[in-house]
Amino acid sequence: MAYRAISGIGEFGLIDKIAALAEPTLHTIPELITGIGDDCAVYQPSAGLLQVATTDMLVDQIHFDLLTTPLKLLGSKSISVNVSDICAMNAIARYALISIAVPASFSVEMIEELYSGMAYAAKEYGLAIAGGDTSSSRSGLIISVAMIGEVPAEQLTHRSGAGPGELICVSGTLGGSAAGLKLLMREKEIMLEHIENNEPYNKSIMADLKEYGNAIQSHLSPIARLDIVRLLHSKNIRPSSMIDISDGLSSDLQHICRSSNTGALIHESRIPIHPATRRIADELQDDALTWALTGGEDYQLLFTIPKEEYEAIADNKEIVVIGETTDEEEGLLLSDIYGMTIDLKTVKGFDHFSS
Ligand code: ADP
Ligand code: MG
Repeated sequence: MAYRAISGIGEFGLIDKIAALAEPTLHTIPELITGIGDDCAVYQPSAGLLQVATTDMLVDQIHFDLLTTPLKLLGSKSISVNVSDICAMNAIARYALISIAVPASFSVEMIEELYSGMAYAAKEYGLAIAGGDTSSSRSGLIISVAMIGEVPAEQLTHRSGAGPGELICVSGTLGGSAAGLKLLMREKEIMLEHIENNEPYNKSIMADLKEYGNAIQSHLSPIARLDIVRLLHSKNIRPSSMIDISDGLSSDLQHICRSSNTGALIHESRIPIHPATRRIADELQDDALTWALTGGEDYQLLFTIPKEEYEAIADNKEIVVIGETTDEEEGLLLSDIYGMTIDLKTVKGFDHFSS
């Protein structure tokens, strides 16, 4: 039998195969409400309160580059990306188990930096670091965080509950993380070139990154939208579906539509992009809309809500309506600023195995 390259089926094709093999195990646990296919698994220990669980891994040279990433921020990001998946279920994170594989070149102080960032973020989100595992690594640093949260049964939100004719909402702004990454890559190139040419260190070769602070922060230190989840709870609003934007708006909206069996029409003019992100795109001769659609790692919340419920959150400036869900047959469309429609399925988000 010929072996197939994983790139032939891509990350999501691979997860589908894993899900098929895991499927029979799900039936042995009646308390398990949701298995593979959403932002978290959902478990019902007793009536009323549900547990949600997620895990996310950060790997050196895949998810981060230590030349451009302070360890403290890497620590807080590894907590935030997991809290973000918990938020996507409309749930509250409670505790984390953290596993690390550490290269021999690391010092005690480096791990202390990493964990001070983790502890800082954990405190901000109100969750505990309750355990983990430690190993050496023959390649780079690997951080794997598993996180448990909880949510009252009546607030749980899946990717799958959207119906046609509902509003599609997004929190915050998009594309900032991709802008920050591109800037950091540019600065890294300049620095490496400088070292290669054996030139003495000269501060003036580096850009003053202060004016780009917003984008760089979005990339190095994203904040999970626990504030939005708290707002939804306080207004007693349960979105019909929700996901966090980790792969890019295009891909993550496709996940909602695929799970909910709906189509969608979103409008380019309504996609929230920070003016600083547009400025950086101009400077780098790149495209801010593409970053918003495919850049990923913004960790904003994307959710759907019936029109009649929207009024309760309409005055919140952090939430914007970008379009509406439609019947499945209508497909997934983006209407651009000239009124032309583009098929969003042709706009691909991040895939670990695509070349
Ligand atoms: P997210 O971006 O929200 O973290 P992913 O795209 O990583 O979600 O994963 C989608 C679904 O597939 C989730 O339910 C996740 O738990 C599951 N999944 C991903 N990788 C694996 C794996 N190696 N084994 C089992 N389930 C997995
Ligand atoms: Mg997610």
